[in-house]
Amino acid sequence: MSFQKAMRTALVIALLLLALFIYFISGYHQWIESNYSTGFFPKLASSLRWLLGALPFSLGDVIYSVVVAAVLWNIIKFIIRLFHPKDSWGKKLYPLFTAAIILLFVYVYFYLFWGLNYYRKGIEYQLGLQNGQFQKKELISLNQYLLEQVNHRKEICLQKKDTVMSHPRMYKAAYAGYRELEQQYPFLHYRNSSIKSSLFGRLGNYVGFQGYYNPFTGEAHVNTRIPNFVQPFVTCHEMAHQIGYASESEANFVGFLAATNSPDTLMQYSAYLDIFLYSIGNLRAVDSVASKEITKQLNEGVKRDIRTEREFALKYRTFIENWTNAFYDFYLRQNRQRKGIASYNEVTGWLVAWRKKEKP
Ligand SMILES: [Zn+2]
Repeated sequence: MSFQKAMRTALVIALLLLALFIYFISGYHQWIESNYSTGFFPKLASSLRWLLGALPFSLGDVIYSVVVAAVLWNIIKFIIRLFHPKDSWGKKLYPLFTAAIILLFVYVYFYLFWGLNYYRKGIEYQLGLQNGQFQKKELISLNQYLLEQVNHRKEICLQKKDTVMSHPRMYKAAYAGYRELEQQYPFLHYRNSSIKSSLFGRLGNYVGFQGYYNPFTGEAHVNTRIPNFVQPFVTCHEMAHQIGYASESEANFVGFLAATNSPDTLMQYSAYLDIFLYSIGNLRAVDSVASKEITKQLNEGVKRDIRTEREFALKYRTFIENWTNAFYDFYLRQNRQRKGIASYNEVTGWLVAWRKKEKP
């Protein structure tokens, strides 16, 4: 066996063993909570942010592009060799194995460097909240609360003629929100900010993402091509992923707490609007009369923003988005998010439980 072949075999065995370890450990939620999510992971993620935070572009996006190109290149090579009359089967299949090893590496890296957070106990456990069934009157009361907050923030911003946030201001305001939140909940500790504007902005509009976290580099990404008033909350949501909240509803909840603790009113507005839209959607499903009654009371400026967001979504709606949504839905279901894409919505349950406990 040549040295290269021996190395390749050793790598495959190591990756398979690690994949087996991930499979085995994912059932031990308490172990993951105490040793991974609040032990190893925060140190690792914080170091990555320290290392790459100042880099003015997203290294993660470059890595993603290289990985996708490498996998595609190997698949093309396989197809070409398939039709070559003299190549042996060993030679024909080699690029396919290479592509499989790359994907296995990505899988293992992904879970060891972040994905295991899907299997932690999470915010429910840390805050002593119970996100379960809630009554209609609790949902109405939450909607009324959010209506007041969102209207109030919009009035202030319109009065100050302050409606657009620059990216440096947005990222700074999000960081300030986390620093403030930490006073109340020390475990929501965030240092060494590393937030980047996505290199795939326009593509992202068609695919349908507003932001994402890259576990390979610890960078958080914001799609800066979406309406400006949406971006501040997306920033806080992605930062929640950076500190180990993998679940979408938890990232929404932690992001909401951080954004509403930020001293910047536009940041607060963005969070109240986003969360209002989730909770009014839930109310509409159970009581459309009550939801209409509340929507009517929205400030005209807020209504304008909601229309802008809707028009934007319609403009970029394509078949690609349906595919990526279906894929992401499947992915979330595989990772303990039993409602798939609809699990973003579960933030309403966190809000009801949190209001009951903390009475903001
Ligand atoms: Zn997310």
